[in-house]
Amino acid sequence: MHVRCNYCNHTFNLSRDYVAEMVAREEEKGHKYHQVECINCRKMIKVPVDQMRRALPDEPVGE
Ligand SMILES: [Zn+2]
Repeated sequence: MHVRCNYCNHTFNLSRDYVAEMVAREEEKGHKYHQVECINCRKMIKVPVDQMRRALPDEPVGE
């Protein structure tokens, strides 16, 4: 998924594997946002976990 930095407007890509891992981690902690460092200006950007989850392919419900 693409993330746009609020500070410098730089856009960069988060890999699907990274997003999947971070969604699982933040949900486990009960967080609504994941913070990622801008690769350009190095400020922390808040990305809603909901938005990250939607960027992932649908997974089957249950097991
Ligand atoms: Zn930036």
